[in-house]
Amino acid sequence: PPEDPAIQEIREVLKNVKNKILILSGKGGVGKSTFTANLARAFARNENIQVGVLDIDICGPSMPVILGCQGEQVHQSGSGWSPVYVEENLGIISVGFLLNSPDEAVIWRGPKKNTLIKQFLRDVDWGELDYLLIDTPPGTSDEHLSVVSYMKEAGVTGAVVVTTPQDVAILDVRKEINFCQKLNVPILGIVENMSSFVCPRCNKANEIFPPTNGGGQRLAEEVNVKFLGRIPLDPELAKSADQGQSLFESAPQSMVAQALESVVTNI
Ligand code: ADP
Repeated sequence: PPEDPAIQEIREVLKNVKNKILILSGKGGVGKSTFTANLARAFARNENIQVGVLDIDICGPSMPVILGCQGEQVHQSGSGWSPVYVEENLGIISVGFLLNSPDEAVIWRGPKKNTLIKQFLRDVDWGELDYLLIDTPPGTSDEHLSVVSYMKEAGVTGAVVVTTPQDVAILDVRKEINFCQKLNVPILGIVENMSSFVCPRCNKANEIFPPTNGGGQRLAEEVNVKFLGRIPLDPELAKSADQGQSLFESAPQSMVAQALESVVTNI
């Protein structure tokens, strides 16, 4: 079939983006958006690194809250939408900026969602970036397929797959990995989120799901993909996300901040 003209346009828009990384999950609620935001913050701590976050999680665009820029407006210029900057070197575009209410997109039909996805990939003026992190809709949706296929054609660098220990057990994440491998989208690695619980009183990490312990790592070995690390479930992380703060500022010494840092160096 003839190539969709949008693909050429997406390639053109992203030609000055060095690393285009998709953040994927098998299903919703595993902490994909929280991870994406923290990864962006971690990269952006180096002021010489330019970072962009594209939140196309149409079903639940939570990125404006997590990055502390809810209610901002995106501006159109001659060269497309301009990102909202939360740091000088950290810009974000979210579906959430364009919706009148958080539930609006839920009732949209497929074609409308697809048009929006194309626009988001094609019509943002990112300028030069070292990293563009794309928060995708959960792997079980049709929109997900469009985002990954477009980005594959437009020269994606690779994908990071976020899972939880239970998610590993229920196959969705394997489907997701198979899908990427079929499309020849390189998988940069698997992250296991909410692996253990950090008790706020004693600061010790406790396993929550002993039967699935180490599931992320086993899965990574099984599908021959790099294991990037485990991130504990820590109320501190949820709090920083709810308040739109950087964990690296509010709790830099915490186990969870250190786990995130180690994942970032493994990517
Ligand atoms: P997804 O994008 O996969 O749907 P979210 O990033 O929105 O998931 O996370 C779902 C919820 O879990 C949010 O309330 C978030 O604050 C919380 N959360 C995610 N990861 C952690 C973690 N490691 N520790 C504590 N809470 C977390």
